[in-house]
Amino acid sequence: MPELPEVEALRRALNEPVRTFPVEKAGPAHIATLKTFDPPLSALEGRRLAGAERRAKRLLFPTEDGELVLLVHLMSAGRLRYLAAGERGPKTPAFRLRFQGGGELVLTEGGPKKRAGVWLLSPEAAEAELAYLGPEALGLSAEQVGEICAAESRRLHSLLRDQRVIAGIGRAWANEILHHAKLSPYQLSQELDSEEVERLAEAIRSELERGLELRKRGGADKRVYRVHNHLGEPCYVCGTPIARVDYEEHTVFYCPTCQTGGRVLKDRRLSKLLK
Ligand SMILES: [Zn+2]
Repeated sequence: MPELPEVEALRRALNEPVRTFPVEKAGPAHIATLKTFDPPLSALEGRRLAGAERRAKRLLFPTEDGELVLLVHLMSAGRLRYLAAGERGPKTPAFRLRFQGGGELVLTEGGPKKRAGVWLLSPEAAEAELAYLGPEALGLSAEQVGEICAAESRRLHSLLRDQRVIAGIGRAWANEILHHAKLSPYQLSQELDSEEVERLAEAIRSELERGLELRKRGGADKRVYRVHNHLGEPCYVCGTPIARVDYEEHTVFYCPTCQTGGRVLKDRRLSKLLK
């Protein structure tokens, strides 16, 4: 799933092209993709977008007149691209926005499951839709991270992924951040000392910035991620093979030497506990 660095890189790439021309034709949209029906998509036609914004893992395209907001959530398999005039696009996109001048914003989704979503909302409704989100992960101070960790006792991997607590991090960047911070994915947030909180805050900032820089230059997963999906490959710090454990329906990657004092983490999948 694209997380903060991926969505922010996309936002920056889309910001100029989407506001160059007014919308000529909004839609079609796959029935499972379009989550709202009032106002209708056609309400966008003739209006100009103000650019691209981002909140957590979502993209927002407000209209220049301030009356509407198009919200896009890519989920795990959605892909949003801007096609210049004349560039060949997919035959049946999940959603399409055509601009005067011929450019198109096109959402596609691989696989049979349609999980990506498009919402057309009033600014007030968009705000309400996003109100549950916590502060943006990029820009958190060590003090804020300390407050978040102290507020409730949570395992760090789960805490970092909770969008109500910190917005923008998913399982891939939680793996990268915790490895950089040399903290166990299972460590309880309230048990961190102040030096560990500092390390965690620094890791959130530096890993997300590293990810954003690489994604802006088109970096592929294999190069951008150093721990996530690198099972058995040598840790980039100490050379120990990267290990994997299943936790809360997620696959967690970590270095047993750098993060868990040599301990191998036990499977804590919910489904296992329920058996
Ligand atoms: Zn290591």
